[in-house]
Amino acid sequence: MISESGVVREARPMLLVVAAAMIKGGRVLVQQRPEGTALAGLWEFPGGKIEPGETPEAALARELDEELGVTVDPAALVPLTFASAPLADRHLVLLLYRLDRWEGVPEARHASALAWADMAALRRLPMPPADLPFLEVLAPLLRGE
Ligand code: C5P
Repeated sequence: MISESGVVREARPMLLVVAAAMIKGGRVLVQQRPEGTALAGLWEFPGGKIEPGETPEAALARELDEELGVTVDPAALVPLTFASAPLADRHLVLLLYRLDRWEGVPEARHASALAWADMAALRRLPMPPADLPFLEVLAPLLRGE
């Protein structure tokens, strides 16, 4: 990539990731990234990478099954917003969906812990940079608005 100043910079390939705001009783589910992964210890909305050939909704339903053991109807995923952030070698684009219904009780299959956080708790948790802008979008939803 050539910038306006003429300096040649390497373009970072885009990494498309989907995440879910699973909402129940004014709380949203967050999971803690395990040791040995990027951003270990931080709390994030569950989700993951879109694989080639997948729709974002199919990818998110698959990730929620793999990470939490819950069954999700892709049609129940409501697009909310997106955020982006530079990673070491990629540019992350993170799509956030709202989810109000699923089958099964979420369990931490990949994460080191799960938490149902209300807005006050959510603001206190350390989160990856790409997840932070989602808090303002979630605030009215967690108030039931
Ligand atoms: O979970 P996974 O490692 O597949 O996520 C891919 C990338 O997306 C990681 O760099 C992770 O930090 C980022 N991510 C994020 N927020 C999420 C989910 C993933 O920043 N809610």
